[in-house]
Amino acid sequence: WDTPTDSLQATPALDVSSADTGVKVIVRVRPMNKKEETEEAEQVVHMMSSTCVALADQQFTYDAVAGENSSQEAVFHMVGLPMVENCLAGFNSSIFAYGQTGSGKTHTMWGVMSDSDDFPSDDRGLTPRVLESLFARIQEEEMINADKQLLYQCRCSFLEIYNEQITDLLEPSQRNLLIREDTKTGVYVDSLSEEFVSSVHDVTRILAKGLANRRVGATTMNSESSRSHSVFTCVIESRSKSEGEGISSVRSSRLNLVDLAGSERQKQTGSAGERLKEAGNINKSLSQLGNVINILAEVAQSGKHRHIPYRDSRLTFLLQESLGGNAKLAMICAVSPASSCRSETLSTLRFAQRAKAIQNKAVVNEEKANDVNLLREQIRQLKDELTRMK
Ligand code: ADP
Ligand code: MG
Repeated sequence: WDTPTDSLQATPALDVSSADTGVKVIVRVRPMNKKEETEEAEQVVHMMSSTCVALADQQFTYDAVAGENSSQEAVFHMVGLPMVENCLAGFNSSIFAYGQTGSGKTHTMWGVMSDSDDFPSDDRGLTPRVLESLFARIQEEEMINADKQLLYQCRCSFLEIYNEQITDLLEPSQRNLLIREDTKTGVYVDSLSEEFVSSVHDVTRILAKGLANRRVGATTMNSESSRSHSVFTCVIESRSKSEGEGISSVRSSRLNLVDLAGSERQKQTGSAGERLKEAGNINKSLSQLGNVINILAEVAQSGKHRHIPYRDSRLTFLLQESLGGNAKLAMICAVSPASSCRSETLSTLRFAQRAKAIQNKAVVNEEKANDVNLLREQIRQLKDELTRMK
């Protein structure tokens, strides 16, 4: 738990306090890449302030803008750290990275990973940083609350949605998994493997395994472009007791770290045949994300109830709680500064504006021993016993 350095104090953490239901939208502008530099590409995106970005003469305002010189650490302090605190407090939390291929989504979510726990790379991204910080904070919380025997337990899963099929990245033989819904626990992926984790070391191992299994497709636009959505999930449960009694409360929260497929329109990548079919399905999840966000934004503005078609794609079905539901959501929209990307950048900036309008309804997920629901459950069990005795 390092103290922020001076340069980081200039990057205020986003306010994701419990009273705040809005989705946090952050735009991150990457530096020009080698190719753009050699071609002396024209820079069309300019950071105007910590919340305002301009594309040519159009200005857009968001919760935060991270400029081309923003460090991974600064982005973590801005977006990751508040989410860690949310999770510990029992709120479901999600971070999504959106943007065209090559705009910096994977760099932001994962960054450069080192093989060694002892020498983590300065360029590691949000996912490793969030998890490191989560474990450090858990240790701290358990120590402070030793009298209440506060104990945390975390389990992780890692999946990929590719061509509308879900693959378990921790067990890649598990393909085409199905999404199911449980009335009590909500939406889950059937047969998805979960691993218990209790240290940064455990997580590093899991992340490395999953990332190695991540499918990377090639397009003419960027040979390393990813056409899949990856979802890393950590379920955090805490139990505490009061004075020699049984468990008096259980809190649980779900943290989703989502690296979306490239948002570019298909015509630019010169896809054909099988690739195009894949693209259609990949776009199905992404375009459905766009649809859901549009409807949610409209609902937030009009206050009128509307059916939200979460189930029309794997991505929106799986992550429905993050979109307008019981979760805090931060959406990082990544853009390139170069004029060659202007039209995709404009489309990302517009997407980011619509996402800002969504209202979520995050609540602390907690069951207390004296909760009405728990009492009701006890009554029901006693009644069952009585009927059996009769
Ligand atoms: P995406 O996942 O959106 O397709 P990547 O994250 O793979 O894009 O980024 C494309 C390239 O640009 C990578 O080589 C990456 O290292 C580099 N890059 C992206 N964002 C930044 C940044 N903020 N600072 C430095 N390099 C970056
Ligand atoms: Mg990527």
